[in-house]
Order: sequence, then C-alpha cells, then structure tokens
Amino acid sequence: MNIVEHFINGASFSGESTRTAPVYNPAAGVVQREVRLASVADVDVAVQAAAAAFPDWAGASWAKRQGVLFTFRELLNARKGELAAILTNEHGKVTSDALGEVARGLEVVEFATSMPHLAKGEYSENVSTGVDVYSIRQPLGVVGIISPFNFPAMVPLWFFPIAIAAGNTVVLKPSEKDPSAAIWMAELMREAGLPDGVLNVVHGDKESVDALLEHPGVASISFVGSTPIAKYVYETGTRHGKRVQALGGAKNHMLVLPDADLDLVADSAVNAGFGSAGERCMAISVVVAVEPVADELVEKIRDRMSQLTVGDGTRGCDMGPLITREHRDKVAGYIDVAIADGADVVVDGRGVEVDGESDGFWLGPTLIDQVSTTSDVYTHEIFGPVLSVVRVATYDDGLALINASQYGNGTAIFTNDGGAARRFQREATVGMIGINVPIPVPVGYFSFGGWKDSLFGDTKAYGPDAVHFFTRQKAITSRWLDPSHGGINLGFPQN
Ligand code: NAD
Repeated sequence: MNIVEHFINGASFSGESTRTAPVYNPAAGVVQREVRLASVADVDVAVQAAAAAFPDWAGASWAKRQGVLFTFRELLNARKGELAAILTNEHGKVTSDALGEVARGLEVVEFATSMPHLAKGEYSENVSTGVDVYSIRQPLGVVGIISPFNFPAMVPLWFFPIAIAAGNTVVLKPSEKDPSAAIWMAELMREAGLPDGVLNVVHGDKESVDALLEHPGVASISFVGSTPIAKYVYETGTRHGKRVQALGGAKNHMLVLPDADLDLVADSAVNAGFGSAGERCMAISVVVAVEPVADELVEKIRDRMSQLTVGDGTRGCDMGPLITREHRDKVAGYIDVAIADGADVVVDGRGVEVDGESDGFWLGPTLIDQVSTTSDVYTHEIFGPVLSVVRVATYDDGLALINASQYGNGTAIFTNDGGAARRFQREATVGMIGINVPIPVPVGYFSFGGWKDSLFGDTKAYGPDAVHFFTRQKAITSRWLDPSHGGINLGFPQN
C-alpha cells in the first residue's frame, strides 16, 4: 500500500518509525493509503532541518521572502483544483466547498505578502538629547504548527505563509486523517522557490505532538483542534517555555429575533449547519429561536433540507460523508440521545439516500427541535450534520444561553433591528459575531479566534495577531557621539 511520507529538507523522508495509520476515502469507506506516524527521533530530524535552515532564511531580504510568497500565491491559484481534489478525496467535502477552503487559505497568503510592511518597526528621534530609540521585529526561529482534520489546507495556510514571510522556519504536523494536502502544499512552496528546510511536514499522532511540545529547539506552537487537546497543548507547550496559541472546539448559536427575515434565516441555518457535513468549527449547531417564530422557522428549515443531496463530493452533491466510520457512528448516536431526552427529531439523517458507495461514512442532515439545554445534544460539540433548535421567550434568554456556553468561537444574530444587533455585538461573550451572517469568519487581514474554551492563549490566527505571534520585538536605544556629550551621571537620563 502507498504510504504518505514526511517531507523534510525538501525531500520525502520515511524516518525510523514503522508505525502507520489508515487514510480513508470516506465516500467509499475504504482505506486508500497509509500515513507514516513519526517517532520522537523523526520529529527531531525535522526540527534540526528547520533549525539549520533558519539563519539563512531569517537573514534573507524581505523582498526575497516576499517574492517566494507571491510566486506561491500564483501557483496555488492556478492549481487550486488539484488541491481541492485532494481535500475531497481524503476529507470527503464536496468540490465547491473544497475550492472555498482553498480560497480562504489564499487570502492569508495574500496577507502574508504584505509582511515587509506589516512587520515594520517604529522610530523616535531624540528621546533624550542625542539619543534615538527604535524597534524592529525579528522571527522566533523554528515554529511548530499542528492542524485538525477538518480543514487540511486552510488551517495550515492560516499559519505557515505568515510564519515563513516573517523569517521563521516551520515544522507542520497535519492531521493524520487527511495528510496529503500538507505535502502537496510543501512541494508547491518548494516549486515557488522556498529553500529546503524552511517548511517541513511530519505526520503523526500524540507521540509527534508531544515531541514538538517538548522539543527545546521549537520556539512556538500554533494549534487548532478540539478543546481538550487544545488545552493540553497550551499547558504543555507553555510549560516548556514556548509561545502557544491553541484554538479549540465550538458550539455556535444563531439567535433569531422575531423580526428577522425567516427565509434568510432558514437558508443561512441550512448552509451553516450542513456545509462540510457540519464538520466546521464555525458551523451553526444551535438555532435559538425567540418565540413566536420557532414553528414557522422549523418548517422552513425542514423544507430546504428535503432538497439537499448527499453523496460523493465529486458528483455535484450538496453534502459529503463524515471523516471516519467511528465519527459517523458517534454523531448518529446523538440522535438516540435526543430521543431519550424527549426532543423532537424532525428530520433523521440516518435513513438518508446517497449518491455514492454504500460503505461510505454517510449521515444525512438531521434537525432536532425542542432540545433541552441540559441534554448532551446541546452541551456537547457534535461536529456533524445535526442542527438543534432551542426555543426561548426573549432576547435576554437567548443571550444568556450563548454566554453560559463553555465555548465562544462564533455566533450570529438575525434581526432587522439595528439597535438589537448592536447590543448583541457588545454583550455576547464570543470572539466572532455575525449580524445576519451565519459563519462570520473574518477575512485574512483581520484575525480569527474565539473566546473562552475556543482559544487558549491571547493570540488569534492570521491577520495582525499573527504578525505579533510570529515575530518578537526588539527595542534599540542608540547614541552617536557628538562633541557636546560628556560627563559621568549615574542617574537615568532625564532629557
Ligand atoms: P483533534 O483535537 O482530535 O486533533 C487535532 C490535532 O491534534 C491533530 O493533528 C491530531 O493528530 C492531534 N492530536 C489528537 N489527539 C491528540 C492527543 N491526545 N495528544 C496530542 N495531539 C493529539 O481535532 P480534530 O478531530 O482533528 O478536529 C476537529 C476539532 O477541531 C473540532 O473540535 C473543531 O471544532 C476544532 N477546530 C477548531 C477550529 C478553530 O479555529 N477554533 C478550527 C477547525 C477545527
């Protein structure tokens, strides 16, 4: 069987580990290749390669680094169809969604090409007589990036273009469930002129993650994944003296006020609930309907769901399979929980008809009304095509629910009342807010990240926060002697 190998120092690398994991085609339900799982020693080879490449890359001109990113941007844009095909093949998301993922990643590459401007320092002349102070921003060294299965291209692209533009060298550990996109991008960066060793990819599981977290040669960790692992990564990485940003899970609510346009709400709930089979950290998983609109809204959502097609992502369907059989079964299990907890399963995705192989990891769009806020269906991140509806009496009741959630990634309000929307943007304890926009993922020149258990650390992904994260500032105080200087003075200079 074909094995996806690591990519170190510009070349494929097998390493010493003989451990592998299966990589499925989720639409067929079959193992199509294996992926190598790195040992501690294999991770060390990658870190050493990145460390060796660091001095030259950090010393390269801004123009040289920027030039590689401009070329990469052109190549990626021209060949995005190839990358999208890899995403559909290993993740299962439909082609249009895969192309959307690449487009959102391209935004960050474009942002990264502005790094010479973004990382400029400051200068103050004559802070004291004859003394100037200025600041510069320098790269950290070797940076580690650990990404989840659900965006195998976009999440690595949130980080490595900015890290590399700033002069760092990288060890990327993508999800072992869909590892090929990372290799494809690393090879494309090489084609764009990136020197060997600047971007390395190691595959693996907990062993390789721990090796990165504990390695003294790794300066920082950028992690995206589930909340328990994000918390562990944050605590372990910082304990080992690293700068860490760790983005975690989510449970995103859509608050629907009675004056909202219910057709827009229903379209948005279906798109944001079932796009990518609900395997998005910004998916809407709970519709909070302020009465009296719930009955009408549930009906509109149900109507739209009846038109959705589920199947192989290459066949023009609306929604693909889930990532693994195990995950599919876990998500489907929440439908039983809903029934046991007395909720109303309006649409049950377990009986879905699919345009694809019978062994694929299928679960159709599912709508559950009257979900109790004490049920696991409400409190757990399900990460699948299951949309819950919770009914509340007032705006304040809806807001209280959102603010009581352990997560604070994204949320949305649907209303035609500007005053209510304005209150919501101020009062919701959530990092990204949509106003009549269901998935408020900020564009590449803002930063992406949640609050509470959706982000550990104080730095979000991409945008201005990333410039800060991937550089460290140095302040220089300088005096050039002139004839007027002189004299001993043991106090701080005062003018
Ligand atoms: P995951 O936490 O299982 O895995 C993420 C990464 O951590 C992978 O590279 C994996 O190999 C590694 N990992 C897994 N178990 C580990 C362990 N015990 N110790 C150390 N490393 C480990 O997440 P996933 O299932 O790949 O992705 C889905 C999750 O990611 C969801 O919770 C989703 O909300 C979240 N997510 C969040 C964002 C965000 O921006 N906040 C974006 C995308 C996905």
